[in-house]
Amino acid sequence: MNILERYHAMEYGPAPEARNEADAWLAGRDFSKALFIDGAWRAASGGKTFETSEPSSGKLLAKVSDAGAADIDAAVAAATKALPKWSASSGYQRAKVLYAIGRAMQRHQRLFAVLETIDNGKPIRESRDIDVPLAIRHFIHHAGWAQALDKDFPGHKGVGVVGQIIPWNFPLLMLAWKIAPALAAGCTVVLKPAEFTPLTAILFAEICERAGVPKGVVNIVQGGPEAGGAIVNHSGIQKIAFTGSSEVGKIIRKATAGSGKKLSLELGGKSAFIVFEDADLDSAVEGLVDGIWFNQGQVCCAGSRLLVQEGIAEALIAKVKTRMSRLRVGSPLDKNTDIGPLVDATQLDRVKGLVAEGARQGAVCWQPDAELPSSGYYHLPTLATGVSPANILAQEEVFGPVLATMTFRNTEEAIELANNTRYGLAASVWSENVNLALHVAPQLKAGVVWVNGTNMFDAACGFGGYRESGFGREGGREGMFEYLAAKLPLGPVIKQATISAQPVEQADGAAIDRTAKLFIGGKQVRPDGNYSLAVATAKGKLAGEVGFGNRKDIRDAVSAARACKAWPEATAYNRSQVLYYLAENLSGRAGEFTARLTELTGATPKAAQEEVDQSIERLFLYAGLADKFEGRVHQPPARAVTLALHEPVGVVGIVAPDNAPLLGLISLIAPALAMGNTVVAVPSERYPLLATDLYQVIEYSDVPAGAINIVTGRTAELAGVLAKHDDVDGLWVFADAETCAKAEAWSIGNLKRIWSGNGRSLDWASDETAGDALLRRAVEVKNVWVPYGD
Ligand code: NAD
Repeated sequence: MNILERYHAMEYGPAPEARNEADAWLAGRDFSKALFIDGAWRAASGGKTFETSEPSSGKLLAKVSDAGAADIDAAVAAATKALPKWSASSGYQRAKVLYAIGRAMQRHQRLFAVLETIDNGKPIRESRDIDVPLAIRHFIHHAGWAQALDKDFPGHKGVGVVGQIIPWNFPLLMLAWKIAPALAAGCTVVLKPAEFTPLTAILFAEICERAGVPKGVVNIVQGGPEAGGAIVNHSGIQKIAFTGSSEVGKIIRKATAGSGKKLSLELGGKSAFIVFEDADLDSAVEGLVDGIWFNQGQVCCAGSRLLVQEGIAEALIAKVKTRMSRLRVGSPLDKNTDIGPLVDATQLDRVKGLVAEGARQGAVCWQPDAELPSSGYYHLPTLATGVSPANILAQEEVFGPVLATMTFRNTEEAIELANNTRYGLAASVWSENVNLALHVAPQLKAGVVWVNGTNMFDAACGFGGYRESGFGREGGREGMFEYLAAKLPLGPVIKQATISAQPVEQADGAAIDRTAKLFIGGKQVRPDGNYSLAVATAKGKLAGEVGFGNRKDIRDAVSAARACKAWPEATAYNRSQVLYYLAENLSGRAGEFTARLTELTGATPKAAQEEVDQSIERLFLYAGLADKFEGRVHQPPARAVTLALHEPVGVVGIVAPDNAPLLGLISLIAPALAMGNTVVAVPSERYPLLATDLYQVIEYSDVPAGAINIVTGRTAELAGVLAKHDDVDGLWVFADAETCAKAEAWSIGNLKRIWSGNGRSLDWASDETAGDALLRRAVEVKNVWVPYGD
């Protein structure tokens, strides 16, 4: 055998990571007292435990306390007690604690990695080189945010007690993503790890004891859905941060509706991995290994859909198969292992079931010829070709080592295929042409896009999704906002409108009768039902009639808003000019609007004029800010820049309040428009004529058809239709408490972003209800990673 033959025949010998320290740690604990509450270890009050076992062997590791409602009560009480002192402590004090946690974790880095691998089954290479270092980086990075809080987030304070629920795929890393920003913001936490992977959180609680975290600031409760449900529904909690499946995310969205709890949801995905024909194929193949076989594909942002340009499909698939044949499946504690076991038998069954169904639906599923270990929940890496876009493997999150492949002909088709999913978490774009990659990235409906790379994460960069992948961002400046609240000045409590169906008293005079219609797609249109609603003056006389919009009208308005490409694609400077023009035209008719306000609301002419002036000023403000509320560039510790781009949310439904009926409407519509959203607005039910009077102003101001749509009618009914509509991406509701709660509960179809006043209006005249606070709600932050270097 010559040297070359010997080299090719060379096998990897076993390289096991020692586990004796981890076994000693396991042997030295009483896991029946594993609830960490108020700085002390407790058993579950009901005495229950659950089992956690080792995925590579199925062997029992520990029986861990299973928290019930009473334990969650105790944890929330401890967090509430600790809150005043912790939130009042200086940024420097909190920074020292976060730094101490990071340093203490560094000292036990190897124990964390081995325990994580034993409990979860992920290869030690991953837990040692990625999960644990990144978790540590989160604590150290957020120490800085604690100190920068006052300067960087003026007017913001921590939200209070936070309930955090995490999944099993990155147990320690998800814990770090949750706890680090919360502590930096001055919040106290009750965190529940997933029931498959409780161990590293227990070690983390021990670290908190040693790092001087004050009692009650971090509470870690173990358990399953019952404990999770008790956290979600607890009235002493001000914010829920959840990472997990879209299914449970929807349950949580519904459960928290109307509670006023702040909510962030990091859910599932079906991310596209797009390879253009000019890509470096060998790099793309290595990217795929990271994209879909990292952590056995149990990754929310796994690149589970390979979209490859037709001309290179055959060559790429051949390379992928060769590489797959070399993936080493085996003990996760072996340092050479690429693929370990899945987390549990139930997960293995689920993945097998999905692969079988995908094959039944026509996919060709290929696996390398490799032997699986005799015990443990292993699944071979699997490549599915001939996958139709409707195949279950193209649509469902498999959460396993399964790659579904499809081809595309041109860039438009690639984008269309990539966006053909109800999720919107991440995407990878592979091309040697950076112009093409940066042309495609903004068009992908995904919160994170990696150019010529995949699965890049950092504490300084936001991570999170659109649509059924949830809302909110974790990491960096974007992530800090999720744990902060700015108190906007409140307006009156909004009561359900009680406009009677009875005709109001006819007005005197001989003015020409004017019937206000709806404004949809740039035209004044009759309502579908052909009914009208009478509008009364402040004195109870008939001021006019408006269209009684219904479900069909909202649908038409949403279609018009979706079809309007001219507005989101316009430059920010263009949008700015149109908003200035709106202001100019409104100012030309200021007298008329002042008179209308006085007539309808009974405001004094002076107050009415002030509202009109402020409305004009607000349009001016957002015209000016349209090209200034920009994204940022993050600089992660890698050879990459991360562009945090501000993108419009999409089609935004706006349900405007009665107080300040002109200023309130404009204060909401203008920031949404400034950021490139198209709008379907439901104006005040009592004073809709102020909105219908705007039609002509809009028509004269070069607003593209469909950018603003206005549907008058019953607030509660129309808000409900907007909430349920799956083509509405965001909804801002200023209505009575019941309507707000229903809108939140009904938004779960596509998990649209909701901003609700919870039955309270805002003080629209205040400067604090204008500017960044609103613009932030009008954008999604997309993080585009662009590596550099040879
Ligand atoms: P899961 O939704 O079943 O469970 C997640 C957590 O929620 C667990 O702690 C569980 O005990 C708890 N839970 C379950 N039912 C609950 C209920 N009714 N009320 C409150 N809590 C409840 O998800 P999983 O199987 O543990 O994790 C896999 C999912 O997580 C995948 O869909 C994956 O995409 C997603 N994930 C998303 C991200 C992200 O950042 N977007 C990151 C990691 C994982």
